[in-house]
Amino acid sequence: MKIVLLGAPGAGKGSQAELIKEKYGLPHISTGDALRKNLKDETELGLYAKSYMEKGLLVPDSIIVQMMKIRLEADDCKNGYMLDGFPRSIVQAEFLDKVDTLDAVLNIEVPFDVIIERLSGRLSCTCGAIYNKATHHSDKCLKCNSQLYIRADDKEEAIRNRLDVYTETTAPLVDYYAKKGVLRTIVGAETIKDTFKRVQVVLDQISSRE
Ligand code: AMP
Repeated sequence: MKIVLLGAPGAGKGSQAELIKEKYGLPHISTGDALRKNLKDETELGLYAKSYMEKGLLVPDSIIVQMMKIRLEADDCKNGYMLDGFPRSIVQAEFLDKVDTLDAVLNIEVPFDVIIERLSGRLSCTCGAIYNKATHHSDKCLKCNSQLYIRADDKEEAIRNRLDVYTETTAPLVDYYAKKGVLRTIVGAETIKDTFKRVQVVLDQISSRE
């Protein structure tokens, strides 16, 4: 199955992706994680993307499309995948349409006030795990014991930029995919577990069609 996780930053795409990967075995392709890895390794791409990412702006479409073209051709994508944080603009969605047909686009909907609260308390781990200061009272990851960190773009001004960028450039994808008949809306304001129950209903339907 080939799916996209759509939603504002902080909607919970990464958390759902971890659970989906565990249960359905789909490769988790996150453009944000890939860019952060490039940044850490100080590759040319990473150094180029850094200033956009820190400000909470989108890395130009041409760069992202080039990166995803290579990634989607990899062997592990042959039987399905889940895209997290891609596409984020109509240009990126049009590229994806040319290379593949999606089974579903899961639009995780969360009100902005909940999102701001989540992002401003977010603690991240390099292994992909995500926590919140309100409920996690340690600076260590429960899964791999690494030191947790606050993402540079989880600071207040960057959060505001990211939400503006989402509204202007990414939110139009909701209509784009609704028109194609693949959009599935998931209420994501409650707990990770509650959201995952809703996600499973959709993914189980798709799996039973295959
Ligand atoms: P994320 O981890 O998905 O929130 O992405 C972190 C940052 O990486 C974003 O704020 C953008 O600067 C950049 N980024 C990730 N995915 C994309 C994309 N599909 N298009 C453009 N920029 C992206």
